[in-house]
Order: sequence, then C-alpha cells, then structure tokens
Amino acid sequence: MVLTAGVIAVQGDVAEHAGAIERAAARHGERVDVHEVRTAGVVPDCDLLAMPGGESTAISRLLGREGIDTEIVDHVAAGKPLLATCAGLIVAARDAGDPRVDTLGLIDVTVDRNAFGRQVDSFETRLEVAGLEEPFPAVFIRAPLIDEVGDGVEVLAEHDGRAVAVRDPPVVATAFHPELTDVSRVHDLAFFDRE
Ligand code: GLN
Repeated sequence: MVLTAGVIAVQGDVAEHAGAIERAAARHGERVDVHEVRTAGVVPDCDLLAMPGGESTAISRLLGREGIDTEIVDHVAAGKPLLATCAGLIVAARDAGDPRVDTLGLIDVTVDRNAFGRQVDSFETRLEVAGLEEPFPAVFIRAPLIDEVGDGVEVLAEHDGRAVAVRDPPVVATAFHPELTDVSRVHDLAFFDRE
C-alpha cells in the first residue's frame, strides 16, 4: 500500500517537510506519495498531514479562504495523524491570544505567538524528546511558547521548564522546526511510531 501524505503549502517550509516525511517512511519500509496542499479537496484523501511553520496569521487566513481549515479539523476528528510545527502549532492550538489567528482547536494548549522571538530571534539546542533515543537538534525560529497544557496532552519535550513539544493524539506539535535538520525522528514519532 502507498500512503498519501499532505503538506499544507499555503505558506512555509513545504519541501523540507516533504523530504522528512519521505525519509521517515523509508526508515519504516513504507511507500508514500507526498502532495502539497494549496486548495480544498486534497486533505480528505490524505492518511497523514504536516502543517509547517511560517507566519501563523497568513496561514490561518489562507486556510480559511481556501476552505482547507475544516478539512484539517475533519482529518484529526477521524483520528488521522497531524504534525504541526511552529506557526502550525499556533494555528492548531486552542488559543493563540491573537484575533488575527483563527485557531483550529486541534490540541488542547494555548500559545504565546512570539514568546521566544521577543527575547532571541532564533537558536538551536539539543532536546531530550520522549520516545526518541537520542537528543534532537531542535531549531527555534521566532518560536511560540506553549502556555497552558490541557489534561489529555502529553509533554514530549521541555526547554527551560516550558513545554516545546506535545502530543494530543492524533496530533504531535512542536514549537521548533524538526524539518530543518536531516534527522527525521520527530516525523517518525508523529506518523510511524505511534503507540
Ligand atoms: N512566530 C511566528 C508566527 O506567529 C511563527 C514563526 C515560525 O513558524 N518560524 O507565525
């Protein structure tokens, strides 16, 4: 069987996510066709989805305009996996404290959009991530900070005592950019190593 993957491509790191999904699938002996999602009608055929970083206000607006937002909500409601990274995490959250971002409520967390950004623009650090055997090289770029974490949400990684990777099945979300390193282990965790 060939899996169908979608990368939300209205804005953000699309090719990098596509590459990471292909590497993760190859590691697991799975075949995958990756589609870039720019219009409605693609997500309903996808077995797994990635929502990249970029600018959450723009992503939110374009998802709504194209009618992709409700398709992503249906995808998650059907129990199919979604990996949401950085701005993707912001859009997937319950609340982002910014009226310009129409959050989809796919993970029970609240986020502060540019929390790290106000202190430091970008940085890289090795993070202990639950379920990964080695520290993960995490790249943070104007990253959001996760504020409130709901009861059903598992914190997979913390930085300075704050959650930066969470799982609220079937969604995995990270404040950092796992697609920007050639280690595809977070994509494994989100799509192929699910418990
Ligand atoms: N802080 C940005 C936003 O609000 C996200 C940055 C990123 O995705 N690298 O959209």
